[in-house]
Amino acid sequence: MPVVPVVAAAVLVGLLAAPPLRGLIAYFAVPEGEPWCGACPLCGRAVRLLPPSGRCPGCRGRLGAGAGTVEAVAAAVAAGVAYAADGSVAGALGWAGALGVALGFVDGRVRRLPHRLNLSLLAGVAALLAVAALAEGRPGVLLRCLLAALAVGAVLELAVWARALGPGDSPLGGALGGLLGWYGWSVVLGGLFAAVVLAGLWAVLRAAAALLRRRPVRGLDVPVGPFLLLGALTAVLAR
Ligand SMILES: [Zn+2]
Repeated sequence: MPVVPVVAAAVLVGLLAAPPLRGLIAYFAVPEGEPWCGACPLCGRAVRLLPPSGRCPGCRGRLGAGAGTVEAVAAAVAAGVAYAADGSVAGALGWAGALGVALGFVDGRVRRLPHRLNLSLLAGVAALLAVAALAEGRPGVLLRCLLAALAVGAVLELAVWARALGPGDSPLGGALGGLLGWYGWSVVLGGLFAAVVLAGLWAVLRAAAALLRRRPVRGLDVPVGPFLLLGALTAVLAR
């Protein structure tokens, strides 16, 4: 299939997915211990779909991510997934991409990866990989996916115990490890490596920006979820 129309169609799908993704992000982007946000806190209107402005359709109050940001990221991720996807694994990649956008924004805003979103990503990826493996007549690949999910999840869980990562990072990493396991162990390792490099680069850039503005540097305080997701996408694109 020609690449340009496929990627253009994916960008359109990404833009169409943005309003419900914004609803998900607004719902889950609440600090630990607070109830989920199903309605606008300013006017009480139920929030399921949100426009690109990121403002409540009822009262125009700001709800969630900044104007255009979710649209830009969703379109870029959809384009990346469409470019990288070949064959029956496209469904699992698309599902991970969509929920990944929501998880990335939620983690960026409130530094948490809600279990319900993580579990939805994990369950969807597992089911869609199983369908893909059966469709391609190679069920054996699922064993590698399972082992990769367990390995990455276990490594990240050690970092959670050491308080270097948040509790949501290991299930997210496990789910992404399982997805990358479809392609092979080198892609699993590549995804982890890319995540570490990208998170490190981001931490250095933030520290440099803080120094330039003569603000105190607050250690390596970066949300890890977006970088696990970005690393996975990078590994799939670069394989
Ligand atoms: Zn409102």
